[in-house]
Amino acid sequence: MRDDFLVFGAPYIGEEEIAEVVATLRSGWIGTGPKVGLFEQAFREYVGAECAVAVNSCTAALHLSLLVSRVGPGDEVITTPMTFCATANAIAHTGAKPVFVDIDRRTLNIDPERIEAAITSRTRAIVPVHFAGRPCAMDHLQALAQRRGLTLIEDAAHAIESWSTVGKIGAVGDLTCFSFYVTKNVVTAEGGMITTNRRDWAEQLKVYALHGMTHDAWKRYSDEGYKHYAVELAGFKYNMTDIQASLGIPQLKRVEANLQRRVQIWERYDRAFEDLPLITPAPPEVGTVHARHLYTVLVDREQVGITRDEFVSRLHRLRIGSGIHYVAVHLQPYYQRTWDYRRGDFPEAEYISDRTLSLPLGVKMTDQDVEDVIEAVRSLAGA
Ligand SMILES: *Cc1c(COP(=O)(O)O)cnc(C)c1O
Repeated sequence: MRDDFLVFGAPYIGEEEIAEVVATLRSGWIGTGPKVGLFEQAFREYVGAECAVAVNSCTAALHLSLLVSRVGPGDEVITTPMTFCATANAIAHTGAKPVFVDIDRRTLNIDPERIEAAITSRTRAIVPVHFAGRPCAMDHLQALAQRRGLTLIEDAAHAIESWSTVGKIGAVGDLTCFSFYVTKNVVTAEGGMITTNRRDWAEQLKVYALHGMTHDAWKRYSDEGYKHYAVELAGFKYNMTDIQASLGIPQLKRVEANLQRRVQIWERYDRAFEDLPLITPAPPEVGTVHARHLYTVLVDREQVGITRDEFVSRLHRLRIGSGIHYVAVHLQPYYQRTWDYRRGDFPEAEYISDRTLSLPLGVKMTDQDVEDVIEAVRSLAGA
């Protein structure tokens, strides 16, 4: 057994990040400023979108994307129950109703075939989630959104590196939201980004993200001289700081190399678990890039002999951290109380919710860490 606990989702922070953060601290400008601008530019270029707007979380990115799409009270927004609560919470923040549509058990993504039946005269937008980094069927979603006059806002918190069959995630939707939370593929501790090809939306997003003020606050105090600002709406405090951007710039430079390492670990897991009674992730769809954010296995008690929750605690005792992504959002008390959802509404998502477990998959892991995970999983799954 391992001596130390293998932390699930531990970020890899290199010397470059440390140097960049220290340089920012020494520069005297630690708020929203030039580093945020550089990070936005680097991200925009990486994704291939016209515009990128940095914010302080993906939750903020989703909230603002819904607001510039004019989603508000009385509206409905379609999303998946197999996601982090932030996706649905952001919809609730606008006053709109989160309308869940069940997933495809194989891809874990919203089932595009089921969306049309959930569209009503109140539906304004669709918020698909590229679960674990597997891109949704964007060709299908785009055609549907266009035909029904809906805005497509992607939750790409897992999908920085993903490509769909119609192009890079972040360059092909109306608005795409990314996360740089500590466990994500690029980390800034807390942080998010919105990409879009519409400049008018990008301008509005910037105003919404900083109190509704029409001039960047940091420019007010720069050597260009003081400028008055105008408050055009009751905006939010969602701006990213230069300290966060200083982490993100070098992190983004390593994003593709990191993906290659996770592909390596992923394929090692696939081989090692082939003969076990666990369901491992389906291979990526032809013509796509899967960002390999989460390696999820399904623990079925009938097959494995113990429940998923028991599997998680036994892994913990073997000093292997793991995650559960996710308990389906419609099973959470707020959603049951407020929107009248209940168990039985989305059987596919519930099937996954009851069985899924995410194994450590990070570039900080050594080969020995990977072997330790394999040994622990094999021993618990009865090999
Ligand atoms: C992490 C995550 C979010 C929220 O991201 P934050 O940056 O922490 O706000 C939203 N959706 C999904 C699918 C996530 O995994």
